[in-house]
Amino acid sequence: MAKVTFYGGVGTVTGSRYLIEHDGKNVLVDCGLFQGLPELRQRNWTPPEFDPHSLDAVILTHAHIDHTGYLPRIVKLGYDGPVFTSRATADLLKILLPDSARLQEEEADYRNRHQLTRHNPALPLYTEDDARDAIKLFHTTANNGVPVEIAPGFRASFLVAGHIMGASLVLLEIDGAGKDGGTLRFLFSGDLGHYDQVIIRDPAPPPDCDYMMCESTYGDRLHPEEPPSITLQRVLNEAIKRGGPILIPAFAVGRTQEILYLIRELEDNHLIPVLPVIVDSPMASQATQVYNRWFEEHNEDYASLLRAKRHPLRPHEMMTASSREESKQLNDMRGPRIIISASGMMTGGRVLHHAIRILPQHNATVIFVGYQAAGTTGRKLVDGEREVKIMKQMVPVNCHIERIDSFSAHADWKGVLRWLSGLKNAPKTIFTTHGEPEAAAAMAARIHEKFGWTAKVPRLNETVELI
Ligand SMILES: [Zn+2]
Repeated sequence: MAKVTFYGGVGTVTGSRYLIEHDGKNVLVDCGLFQGLPELRQRNWTPPEFDPHSLDAVILTHAHIDHTGYLPRIVKLGYDGPVFTSRATADLLKILLPDSARLQEEEADYRNRHQLTRHNPALPLYTEDDARDAIKLFHTTANNGVPVEIAPGFRASFLVAGHIMGASLVLLEIDGAGKDGGTLRFLFSGDLGHYDQVIIRDPAPPPDCDYMMCESTYGDRLHPEEPPSITLQRVLNEAIKRGGPILIPAFAVGRTQEILYLIRELEDNHLIPVLPVIVDSPMASQATQVYNRWFEEHNEDYASLLRAKRHPLRPHEMMTASSREESKQLNDMRGPRIIISASGMMTGGRVLHHAIRILPQHNATVIFVGYQAAGTTGRKLVDGEREVKIMKQMVPVNCHIERIDSFSAHADWKGVLRWLSGLKNAPKTIFTTHGEPEAAAAMAARIHEKFGWTAKVPRLNETVELI
């Protein structure tokens, strides 16, 4: 009998790790880092509940670190089997996993220098070499629904999930584990996209399945009705009238490309004036190249721009800064200009150098376009603090602070129900995962209420026997 065990992504949105076992074979779906609160991050340091040597295959649904960032750790601990993922996800991970390793190494270094560790010396969870070893294990496929054999008796099909570039719905088929010795079908939603996003396609309809794992990040919330392009247009025009610089802190992969797309579109439609747009993040520039490479991920608007030889992610006066010197030169520019830089929550990166100069200026504007976690500099600014500490200096905040809440790569609960309505037959059970406890419970209740199907919230480390 096949079994599933929920080793993460339960009671929280991070640390997605699900183990499927059948007939002596073990397949891990997603291998994410726990992130956020210290008690969650501590879990990354406990030995994994499964022996990495016992795994036959790993599947990754998309590139976000909360779904992939534990992979170099299990590789360090001995996993050397195949890792199946979409080709766009693999491309993004070649940027993101080494970056995650650098952050781990910097954190260990910081702990050692400030003697903040009981371990002597503190070691990183993994190094850049471990990340590169993990990347060598990739076996890639397109998000086209064609089944791939991942282990004897196990097949996986990848379909567009519409969440970020490369994100997949994964249908796992297990021979001999179904009813009367037939095939068992288990669908993983991964992170499910928001319909009508720019750049990427809407989620593919769900294929029929016996079981499903469905994300529930927004299980108890709805997105604002005003589309982000309208809000961005208004906020940018107000900021341009003030005459000062405009800083947009944004995650280098995903949100930066969405912002570039929208600025280019607003310029093309003469809804904002053409301004210098500076992308100050080498990672963002690399990710932007990946965005143009994989045609199967693009929605029709994006594809038609490419056919017309127009770069969809290139505003009219765009500049990129690769070196630190180029980044510093940007500080000498005058007049309204838009600077897009990471990190999106101002927890590190080049955005901090810009913030030190821009926050004290009365005619400047900072626009937040993503979630700001508690304790971050970004959160302090959206909460209205008039002075923040950045790189050991106290910086006065005189500029205008704006936030746009409508950007989201996740379907809200109505979006999830819309997607589920594409199923022709009721699954035996839908497990709602990847949500805070209230959100996961609300999503399960809404599924049951609308369709009458069995939906339940699994517990951390719970094992469920299938059929
Ligand atoms: Zn995600």
